[in-house]
Amino acid sequence: MKDPCAHCEEMMQPYLDHTLSEEERIEAEHHLDGCDWCRRRYRFEESLRVYVRQVVTEPMPADLKAKLSSLRLEL
Ligand SMILES: [Zn+2]
Repeated sequence: MKDPCAHCEEMMQPYLDHTLSEEERIEAEHHLDGCDWCRRRYRFEESLRVYVRQVVTEPMPADLKAKLSSLRLEL
């Protein structure tokens, strides 16, 4: 049987890109509801994307930098 967390991780990039099918999105969200580990991973990845976007346009704000390092510590 496939590890649900591994499956959830596979869906992370397309989830954040909003390219999942409705069915897959619900599946991912359902898993995230009950899995703290994956929820953190998704949140971290999302923060990373925000950071990457901001780096392109402006210097990284100090609060975001602090947020990112605290997320990294949680993982
Ligand atoms: Zn999980």
